[in-house]
Amino acid sequence: MFSLVNPISGNDMAMSHNIFSFLRLVASRAGIVLLIGLFQNSAIATPIVESIRIGDYEKKTRFVIELNKLVKFKTYSLENPNRVVIELPEVTWRIKKDYRRSSRRISGYRFGLFRPGHSRVVIDLKSPMRVSKSFRLVPQGERGHRIIIDIVDVLNKNFLKVPQNRRIKQEIGKTMRFMLPNPPLPPKKKPKHKKFFKYVIALDPGHGGVDPGARGTQGTLEKKVVLELARELKRQLLDTGKYRVVMTRSRDVFVRLRERIAIANRAGAHLFVSLHADSIGNRHLRGGSVYTLSERASDKEAEALARRENKSDIIAGVDLNVQSQTVAKILIDLRQRITKNNSVLFAKLLAEQLGKKTLMLRRKHRFAGFAVLKAPAIPSVLIEMGYLSNVKDEKLIRRASHRRKIAKAVVIAIGRYFSRQGSLK
Ligand code: ZN
Repeated sequence: MFSLVNPISGNDMAMSHNIFSFLRLVASRAGIVLLIGLFQNSAIATPIVESIRIGDYEKKTRFVIELNKLVKFKTYSLENPNRVVIELPEVTWRIKKDYRRSSRRISGYRFGLFRPGHSRVVIDLKSPMRVSKSFRLVPQGERGHRIIIDIVDVLNKNFLKVPQNRRIKQEIGKTMRFMLPNPPLPPKKKPKHKKFFKYVIALDPGHGGVDPGARGTQGTLEKKVVLELARELKRQLLDTGKYRVVMTRSRDVFVRLRERIAIANRAGAHLFVSLHADSIGNRHLRGGSVYTLSERASDKEAEALARRENKSDIIAGVDLNVQSQTVAKILIDLRQRITKNNSVLFAKLLAEQLGKKTLMLRRKHRFAGFAVLKAPAIPSVLIEMGYLSNVKDEKLIRRASHRRKIAKAVVIAIGRYFSRQGSLK
């Protein structure tokens, strides 16, 4: 009797759900399960993550992601350093703060867009651990859809290693296909008609998505302010009518360091400008600086900075153990020698111009082994706008007028660089 009160909607939903499950079962055999996933995604709005909770228990730590919708997810573990990655479809994060809560087994976590269509949570582990259980819970009472991940200690590494590793490899195989950049192409030939020729400037706002970069004392995120600077710089460069601009990212998304170089290569860039805003332990230190690539760092601070900036892939949950040797070899090319001289020339012009408009470190131009500056044929520099760990610098960096000043200095330096290049020919 009671079931007659509201029978239709409930049954319909159950039935369509059953049909989908059935289709998915059949389709997975034919390899078109992805198509159904895409159809489902485009038919509905982006799911919203409403909260993340961590619960510590005697034998496990439970990681809970609460959403307004049912989503598919995938987890796997990575070593060196120990991390657990949770892959999700693209979601909107409605979590107040990008906080790094730690717990008994977790030292922190990050979340964000990994690449368009794919979001991710990366959990940093205090020691080797594995996901013992992962499942979904449907809404109940106040609680929405939940993804539950149970993480347990790996007491005997060898005991767990075999099945765990096999699964990791398969997962990586799948994701790597998307992540490996195309091999760098030689820059495009200059067009014959000089009238239409434009220099191509690659702007590279650091970090993004799941990698927030440095964090200011007032909560400013590096990934956000460097994107704003890049947008301003792009606007000013286009205003001159002399340049084309390619951005390695134009939204809050993670991009691998190598992919950033590949984007610049594919666009035939003549210059590569990476934009950052660092944070360090010394809160009194302030001022901007310019860096170029060198196997030997100019000083300890520059070396430590490069180490921090090079961590981006680790932060975003990329397994560096599977990086191929050949790609590394391509990067260390003889062409780098010419490129290096041009990079140094550009860095000097930049440091000079920036010094006129903003406060700079005492030694404005430094060297270190930044992975993102390793394009063999494109002169590349990295600009640190200032220190987010310094209250005054942070305040300035947040100001649009200050970013306009920095952009103006960069535009002047780029102009001088190309006119200098022209006179050398
Ligand atoms: Zn950075």
